[in-house]
Amino acid sequence: MRAATVLEFNKPLQILDVPIPTPASDQILVRVLASSLCNSDIAGWMGVVGAVAPYCPGHEPVGIIEAIGSSVKGFAKGDRVGFMPASSICFDCNDCIAGNHRFCEKKTSVGFKGPYGGFSEFCLADPLSTVKIPDALTNESAAPLLCAGVTAYAALKKVSQFVTGGKTINVIGCGGVGHLVIMYAKEMGYGVHAFDVAEDKLQLARDSGADKAYNTATLADGGVKQANATVVSSGATSAYDLAFKLTQNHGRIIAIGVPRGDISVNILEMVRHDLSLIATNQGTKQELAEALEIAATHNIKPCYEMRELEQINEGFQDMLQGKIAGRLVYRMG
Ligand SMILES: [Zn+2]
Ligand SMILES: [Zn+2]
Repeated sequence: MRAATVLEFNKPLQILDVPIPTPASDQILVRVLASSLCNSDIAGWMGVVGAVAPYCPGHEPVGIIEAIGSSVKGFAKGDRVGFMPASSICFDCNDCIAGNHRFCEKKTSVGFKGPYGGFSEFCLADPLSTVKIPDALTNESAAPLLCAGVTAYAALKKVSQFVTGGKTINVIGCGGVGHLVIMYAKEMGYGVHAFDVAEDKLQLARDSGADKAYNTATLADGGVKQANATVVSSGATSAYDLAFKLTQNHGRIIAIGVPRGDISVNILEMVRHDLSLIATNQGTKQELAEALEIAATHNIKPCYEMRELEQINEGFQDMLQGKIAGRLVYRMG
């Protein structure tokens, strides 16, 4: 089978012919049908998030179960599933006990280590990270929800702890994750003011349901719209600078977008205005199932462009250069 492989960081991927793996007793073998490209794949390829080369990237795969280990329950051959990266967890740490096994120190992350990932034609999944895909979702629509969608939804669940539906929130960065933040926010009853520097992403924000979309490159001081919550789905340092201006006293900034380096924050200003900065990272298996269900029942459809696996290197470059408004989804089978 084919597997797009990072042999060396920052070098073109190679499509290798590798053997189809055999699932261990606690694993699922999935024939991948569609798989999308996430910004974390780019960060992995750059060698900044702990990926271990050589490896096959991709952590937004949707496929059909081909074989199941003897101890796996709840799944059957032929089920259509998607899965998140965490596998081989310890079952014993506080995070594993709480269902937050993506934070387990002993886990392996599929798509960041090993010869199989979302961009191999077959992949091994951990049942604890695997969910069934609702019938109403196509493979292509479901794939971006496996990381971008659950990240957006779980961030908004954090928002919902302190801002009720009906109020308006700010979303900075309207790309692959940001447009899904907007779509889920609208379904959860929020008004959305969207901010980006790129006109194509502002159009995507409007198409995704944003009530207002502002170009931050030309935003005058009077255009700053404060809200109690600001979700930052851009990794630009300037996005975080803006977030502090856009957030009302006692409000919270939810960090999804990861800047390449450190950013500085003004603690004095945070103290004066009682502001909090909260990070969020994907979601639980339950939150993934909820994100998929909401998408299926409320017709949330990610914006995507289809590509072939042979075009994987172009995709990495297009993402790096900010050319992709939504998601790139690769046809795998
Ligand atoms: Zn653990
Ligand atoms: Zn991701």
